[in-house]
Amino acid sequence: MALLDFDALTPLTDLPDAARRLLERPERATTVMLSIRARPDELLITDCYVVYYSSARGVPKGGLRMAADVSLEETRDRAELMVWKTALTGIPFGGGKSAIRLDPRGMGTFEKGLVIKEYVHLLREDLSVGNYVPAPDMGTGPREMAVIFGELHVPQAVTGKPTSVGGLPGRREATGRGVATCAACAAPDMLGKPIGECTVAVQGFGNVGSHSAWFLAQQGARIVAASHITGGLYNARGIDVEQALARSPQETFDGLQGDAISNEDLLGLPVDVLIPAAAGGVITEEVAGRLRCKLIVEGANDPVTGQADEVLAEAGIVDVPDILANAGGVIASYVEWRNAKSGSFTSKKEVYDFIDQILSRAFERVIECASALGVPLRRAAQVLALQEVVTSMQERGWL
Ligand code: NAD
Repeated sequence: MALLDFDALTPLTDLPDAARRLLERPERATTVMLSIRARPDELLITDCYVVYYSSARGVPKGGLRMAADVSLEETRDRAELMVWKTALTGIPFGGGKSAIRLDPRGMGTFEKGLVIKEYVHLLREDLSVGNYVPAPDMGTGPREMAVIFGELHVPQAVTGKPTSVGGLPGRREATGRGVATCAACAAPDMLGKPIGECTVAVQGFGNVGSHSAWFLAQQGARIVAASHITGGLYNARGIDVEQALARSPQETFDGLQGDAISNEDLLGLPVDVLIPAAAGGVITEEVAGRLRCKLIVEGANDPVTGQADEVLAEAGIVDVPDILANAGGVIASYVEWRNAKSGSFTSKKEVYDFIDQILSRAFERVIECASALGVPLRRAAQVLALQEVVTSMQERGWL
């Protein structure tokens, strides 16, 4: 089943039946055997999942995840999410994802490099002509993207590379930048005050959460709580975000001023803005019932469950959905891909400005659509994204 509720969306979009049938399942979902011999006496065999969900608007784009518990289903869902994210923001890519079922923790860089080289070997035909463009995801980073680039020598074949081999300045902070931009767009209308006068709690102080917090703090917002999986820090007067950011790779708040707070209590804080930037599904129906924030901006993918959505709507808590709020990363990836193709260069400031421009325009369109249709922001974002994809299908003669 697709992530989108096509039954609910059909009356809102005049969704042609043919489009629905094309979008209810991925164009391609494959499991490939990946095997490497890291040592003469050890043969490692695992699964590599590759999903191209839709190429209607462009080549499938989406990260390469490496984790012990990945599955084809999960990869499929994440590929679909990329379809809606790229469509809503007008980025000319389709949606795809890939995953290797291996725990990268404890794996040396040599062994990890062999795994990535084998991944390239398996997908070489598609990667070398740009039929699918990977990027970092959980368990992979710029180093692995550099290995992919090194195997292919096609700069636009992969994004999220280190800047020394054509990576984009500002790519690391891009998703957090987008989250902060969406929060700043939403605050005046939804909270009746600028973001600089708001209090914020951030669940998950990793890449997305820490950079979201940093950009918001730059605008004057007070970050009163932040957490890692092991627990969080609360300070009503505001956490020192610079110091917290410096410690974030170690996943600790040691030495910072404030009190310990659990992840559960952090979610229930009476703040203006809550940013879930950790894992999916953390705001369940039960959690939603005890939220005291006024606005949620989804840094993580899929942090709010379907049942929780209804509770939030009843409680009047506005939720800026993931396909809008955390699209900064794929917008930056597009700039990296475009630069690689054209040989041009972009500064960090230009990257931030581009993200701001794309997301503030998308945000306005979502607000207008939500108010015209009388639906929550998530549904409005889905309507707009679906319409984009359907238009591309019509114009390509698919329908
Ligand atoms: P990360 O690994 O850098 O950081 C994750 C943070 O969340 C860490 O602080 C970790 O301790 C914490 N965490 C993990 N599980 C938790 C849990 N169950 N409860 C509380 N805290 C928990 O990851 P990231 O790159 O910042 O990604 C965070 C989320 O954002 C993920 O859902 C990811 O899919 C999504 N996302 C990331 C990007 C990106 O560019 N990195 C883009 C779009 C969406």
